[in-house]
Amino acid sequence: MVKVESGREFIEKVEYGKDLLRALENLVRKNEVSAGVLMAIGAVQKASFKYYDQERREYVKIVINEPLELLSCIGNISSFKGEPLIHCHATFANKNGEVYGGHLDYETIVFSCEVYMKEFKDVKLERKYDQITGLNLLDI
Ligand code: ZN
Repeated sequence: MVKVESGREFIEKVEYGKDLLRALENLVRKNEVSAGVLMAIGAVQKASFKYYDQERREYVKIVINEPLELLSCIGNISSFKGEPLIHCHATFANKNGEVYGGHLDYETIVFSCEVYMKEFKDVKLERKYDQITGLNLLDI
């Protein structure tokens, strides 16, 4: 366990047509946030996310190429091999209210999106490969 203290907080609007995960990465880099949490809501033109197959130890990519609500997108900011890493999960809904979701991936294209990000002050959260799960987990 790591005890953290709140640092700066940010509100950002992601523009129409932007790649959501890249926009979040840009927000993190621009403000030099090395650890924190973020959340976003809005709508997307296309959703791209991954499902982790626990048996095969690999991600399976899922793409839904239609307008969807971005019901929630929640994640954390850490570091892996010296680079900032955003671990984000998202849920999307179609016009019938049916929900899809998974580990947010590149090529989720924004229609409109509002982001809240909070930095953790004076802490670095590193990730390390975990043999049991095959994932790069928080090294805490
Ligand atoms: Zn994940």
